[in-house]
Amino acid sequence: MNHYIITYHYIRDDNPYNVNALRISDFEKQLNYFIDNFSPLYPNDLLNAVEQNSEPPPGFLLTFDDGLKEHYKVAYRLLRERGLSGIFFPNISHLIGGNIPLVNKLQVVLGKLGIKKLEQYLLDRYKTHPQGRRLNAIPSAPVKIKRLDNMRVQNIKYFMNFTLDEHVSNDLINDIFEGVVGDVRRYIAENFLTEREILEMHDNGMVFGGHSVTHPYLTSVDYARKEYEILESINYLSSMLGDTVKYFCYPYGHFDTDCKKILGKSDVSLAFTTTPEIHFGASQRYSIGRYDTIHFPPVGSLGPVNTTPMGSVASEKAPIKARGERFGDAK
Ligand SMILES: [Zn+2]
Repeated sequence: MNHYIITYHYIRDDNPYNVNALRISDFEKQLNYFIDNFSPLYPNDLLNAVEQNSEPPPGFLLTFDDGLKEHYKVAYRLLRERGLSGIFFPNISHLIGGNIPLVNKLQVVLGKLGIKKLEQYLLDRYKTHPQGRRLNAIPSAPVKIKRLDNMRVQNIKYFMNFTLDEHVSNDLINDIFEGVVGDVRRYIAENFLTEREILEMHDNGMVFGGHSVTHPYLTSVDYARKEYEILESINYLSSMLGDTVKYFCYPYGHFDTDCKKILGKSDVSLAFTTTPEIHFGASQRYSIGRYDTIHFPPVGSLGPVNTTPMGSVASEKAPIKARGERFGDAK
C-alpha cells in the first residue's frame, strides 16, 4: 500500500525575492492530481496506525514547513474548500522573538542576489567581522547535506551552519539580510503566519506540529539545545492552540537518537524527515519519510526515487560534525 506524504514550502506567484517557489496554479493542479488518483489520508489515520501498530489505508497527505504566509492564504483555503486537512510545521522564532531562522534569511538573500554575489557578500563581511578572516572562496562542504541543492549552495549552507560559530553566522546573515531585504519585522509580517491565522486554521481542521524554535541542524547542537528546540516548540504551540501537539518535523530532516529520546518524553507520536518513502510503517514513528512537491505532476513525475530510508539512516549516524569541530581554526 502506498502512502504519499508530501512536503511544501513556498507557494506563490508574486515572488519579489525569487525564492524557490511552487506557483499557486501548480499547487492547485497537484492537489487535484492527488484527489483524482489517490484517497486523502488524515493525520488521525497515521496516529491510529501507530497506536494499533498497523498500516494506514493508502493515500496522500500534504504537509507544510516553516510557517509561511501562503500556508494560510493558499494551502489552507484550497484544502478547506475540498474538505481536506494538512499538517503544518511552523518554527516559532518569529512568534516568540520577532526573528526568523538562518535558513529563511539565506533563501531570500540567495534568491535576490544569486549565488555569485552572495558568495562575495559573505566573504567580504567575514573578512571584516571581529572573529572573521580573509578567505579566497567559500570552503567546499565535505559532505552533501541536501540532495536537491547544487554544490555551491551546499558549500554556503555548510559554511554557515557547521563551520562558523552560530553568532558569527547570524551576524553575517543579519547584515546581508538587512541590506538586501530590510527590516526583519516587516518581512515577517508579510511572509509568516500570525498567531491569529494559526488559530483560525486550527479551528477549521488544520493540524499543527513542532518544527523547532530556530531551525538548526539538530545533529549539530548539544543535547540541552536539542531539548530546547524540540520541547519548547511543542510546548509553545500546544499552549497557544490549547491542544496536544502530536507531530514534529526535523529541521532539514536531520535527526539522531537523542532527538528520538527527547520526543519520547513529549506527547509527540510521529516525527517526519525529508527522505522520500513510499510506505508508512508504524515502526518508523519517529522517522517518517516525505516526498517533495517536485516529485509529482505538474512539476515533476515520480521517477526512480530512492525509496530506501537512506537520509534518515545516514542522519542517525550523524555524519556531519558538530559546529566548529571540523574547522576549529575558522575564527
Ligand atoms: Zn524547515
